[in-house]
Amino acid sequence: MLTTKKLGILTSGGDAPGMNAAVRAVVRTALERDVEVYAIYEGYQGMVDGGDRIHKCDWGFVGGILQRGGTVIGTARCMPFQTREGRRQAARNLLSRGIDALVVIGGDGSLTGANIFYQEWPELLTELVEAGEITQEVAIAHPQLKIVGLPASIDNDFYGSDMTIGTDTALHRITEAVDAISSTAASHQRTFVISVMGRNCGYLALMGALATGADWVLIPEMPPTDDNWEEKMCEVLKAGRSFGRRDTIVIVAEGARDSHGNLISCDQVKHILEERLGEDVRVTILGHMQRGGAPSAYDRILSTILGHNAVEEILADKPHREPMLIGMRGNRVTQAPLMECVQISRSVVQAIAAGDYQKAMQLRGHIFEEAYNTFSTLIQAKPPGSLGERPPGGQKSLRIAILNCDAAAPGMNTAVRAAVRLGIDRGYTMLGIEHGFRGFIQGKIRELDWVSVRGWATIGGSELGTSRKTPQGRDFYAIARHIENNHIDALLIIGGWSGYQSAYYLYQQRENYPAFNIPILCIPATIDNNLPGAEHSIGSDTALNNIIEAIDKIKQSAVASNRCFVVEVMGLYCGYLALMSGIATGAERVYLHEEGITLKNLQQDVSDLIAGFTTGKRLGLVLCNEKAHPVYNSNFIRDLLTEEGKKIFQVRQSILGHLQQGGDPSPFDRISATRLAQKGINYLSEQAGKESPGASFIGLQGGQVNFWSLAKFPQWTDQEFKRAKEQWWWDLRAIASILAQPAPTP
Ligand code: ATP
Repeated sequence: MLTTKKLGILTSGGDAPGMNAAVRAVVRTALERDVEVYAIYEGYQGMVDGGDRIHKCDWGFVGGILQRGGTVIGTARCMPFQTREGRRQAARNLLSRGIDALVVIGGDGSLTGANIFYQEWPELLTELVEAGEITQEVAIAHPQLKIVGLPASIDNDFYGSDMTIGTDTALHRITEAVDAISSTAASHQRTFVISVMGRNCGYLALMGALATGADWVLIPEMPPTDDNWEEKMCEVLKAGRSFGRRDTIVIVAEGARDSHGNLISCDQVKHILEERLGEDVRVTILGHMQRGGAPSAYDRILSTILGHNAVEEILADKPHREPMLIGMRGNRVTQAPLMECVQISRSVVQAIAAGDYQKAMQLRGHIFEEAYNTFSTLIQAKPPGSLGERPPGGQKSLRIAILNCDAAAPGMNTAVRAAVRLGIDRGYTMLGIEHGFRGFIQGKIRELDWVSVRGWATIGGSELGTSRKTPQGRDFYAIARHIENNHIDALLIIGGWSGYQSAYYLYQQRENYPAFNIPILCIPATIDNNLPGAEHSIGSDTALNNIIEAIDKIKQSAVASNRCFVVEVMGLYCGYLALMSGIATGAERVYLHEEGITLKNLQQDVSDLIAGFTTGKRLGLVLCNEKAHPVYNSNFIRDLLTEEGKKIFQVRQSILGHLQQGGDPSPFDRISATRLAQKGINYLSEQAGKESPGASFIGLQGGQVNFWSLAKFPQWTDQEFKRAKEQWWWDLRAIASILAQPAPTP
C-alpha cells in the first residue's frame, strides 16, 4: 500500500479565476488528512528551480485567497520542463522533500506535461540513482508519481468537465462589458463588434452572445456555412434595425473563421457593416479583462469541490493508477483518465483545423450545439410574416399565455423574452399575464409582440409583474373564463413556490373546469432554489453572486480587526443560498433550517470562535439562513456571540435583505432561462391538442432537462417548509465545514 504523505500543488499555463479556491481546497483537505502539502510557485518552473520555489504550506497560507482572482502561487509557461533534463531536475527537487503526489491545475498543455512526467518517473528515478543524485532507498520509497489534474482555462475548451475553472467568471466579465457597451451603443444607434477570447473554442463568444442578447456571433466551431455569409449577416442586422432596435452587437471569437478556414477579424466585420449598411461601427477588444477579477460564486464552488476531490483521489492510494482528471459533469464530480481527456480536447482543435466542423460541434457536446441553435433562432425571430416567413408546415398557431409568479427572480425576463420570441418564430400568439395569478384572476392579459420584449434578456426583476397570490374558491372560475375568452391554448408559468402550487391547483381542478385541460408548464425561477425536480432555479445563481460580492466587501471592511460577522441571507426555509455562499466565502459556520440548531451547537460554536480568535484569527464569518431557527435566529446569535466573545472579538450583524434578489441576471441564469424557455415552448407545442395534455414542471438535473408531472409536486416537497425533499447540495456540507475550520492549534 502506497501511502501519500507529501503532496505538491501547482497552477500552470494561463491563469484562471478560481485557481486560488482550488489551491485552498487542496491545501486544507490535505492538511486535514495529515498530509504535508507544498505549494510549487510559478507552475513547472518552480519544480525545476526547487529551493524556496517549493513552499511547505500551513493552514493560514491559503487564508483570505478564496475571493482573489489569478493565482497567488503564480503560473508560468516553462520551457525547461518540456525537456527531459528539466523534468529530471524537477523529479530531484520533489524527491528531496519526499513529494510523490501532485495536483496540477491548468489547461491541456499543463496536463500533458503532467502525464509525461508520470510516465517517465521510474526512468527519471533510475537516472537520478545512477547519477548519485538520490539514493536507491529514496527511489524505492517513491516508485510511483501520483497525479491528479484539475481543468482550468477560461475558454472552457477541455473535455472531461462541463465547465473548466475560470469560465464562468470570464462570462461574467464579458456580460458586464457587453451590457455596458450596449447602453452606449443604443444611445448613439451604433454597432459594436466585440472580440472575445477563444482561439479554438467559441464557448465564451456563443454563451456571451446568448446571455447578452447579441445580434450575431462568429465562432470557430461553426463557421457561416454559405460563402455569402456577409450578406446573410447584413440582412438579419438590417431587419433588426427596421423593427426599431437601437443597438447592434456582433460578438466575434478570436478564432472565428469562414467555411474555408480563413480567420474573420473584427476589423473585417466592421468594414462589411460600414460599407453595406452604412452603420457607425466601433470595435472593442475585451482582451485580458476577461481573465481578471474576483472569481464568480460558481467558480469558487466548482474549484473548491474539485480541489477537495483531487486530494481524496490521491489518498485513495490506488496502485499504478494512471493520472486522472477530476471534473464536473451534469453537476456531479467525475473522474476520467487525464490523457484521454487531453486527446479528445485536442481532437476538437484538429477537427477545426481540418475543416470538419460537424465533428467539432459534436465533440463540444449537445448543450453547446443546442445553445447555438437556440441563438440562431432567437436572432432570426421577427414578427410573423414580416419577412414573408410562416410557421413550419401546417402547424396549428397556438395562443400561449405566460406569467411570472412568486417573488421576482433575476432571469425571469430573460425566460419570458426567449419564450415570446421562440413562440412568435413558430407563428404563435404570445400573451403576457400581468402580476401572476392575481392578474390572471382579474383578466390582465395582453399580447406580447417581438418588440415588446426588447432588452429583456439582460434586465433583472419581472417586467410582466409578479405576485404570490395562489387561486382559491371562485378564483378558479374567473381564471377558466379568462382562458376561454382569450382562447389560451397553453400556459407557461415562470416562477417560484406559489407558481408551482397554483399550477398544481389548476391541475387538480381539471375535472371541475375543462378550461384547465390545456398544457401547463412551470419553469423554476426563484432565488431560493427550493423547487422539486430542478437543481438550479433561475435567479439563484445571481443571488449567490450578489451575496458573495456583499460578503467580500463586508469582510474587507474589517480585515485584521478581531471582528466576527453574523450575516443573514435569504432562502426562506431552504438552506441552499446559505450553504453555497458559505462555501464561496469561507464562512466558519453556516446555520441551516434543514439541519436545525441546538443550544449545544451554539455553545460549541462560541468555544470554537473564542479558541480561533485567541490563537490568531482576525476575522470571523458566520452565515445564517433567514429562517434557520425561530428562536436561535441571527439576532440571537449576534447577541450570544457579542456577550460571550466580548473580551476577545467584536460582533457585527448584517442582514443582506433584498439586494440578494435584485440586479441583472448572471450569465448562468440568463443561459439557463433561455434554455428552459426553449424547452418549455417545445413541450407546450407538443402537448397542445392532446386529449390529456401534460401539466408539468421542468428542471435541470444531472445535466439533463427533465419534465415531471405536477402530480409529483406534493409528493416531492415538504409543504410545511416549502422546499424540495431531495436537495442535491446537501452532501456539500462536509466540504464546507472541513475547509472553514480554524487553523489547528500547534
Ligand atoms: P492554457 O489553456 O491557458 O494555454 P495550458 O496548460 O494549456 O494552459 P501551456 O502553455 O500549453 O498552457 O502549458 C503550460 C506549461 O505546461 C508549459 O509551459 C510547459 O511547462 C508544460 N507543458 C506543456 N506541454 C508540455 C509537454 N508536451 N511536455 C512537458 N511539459 C509541457
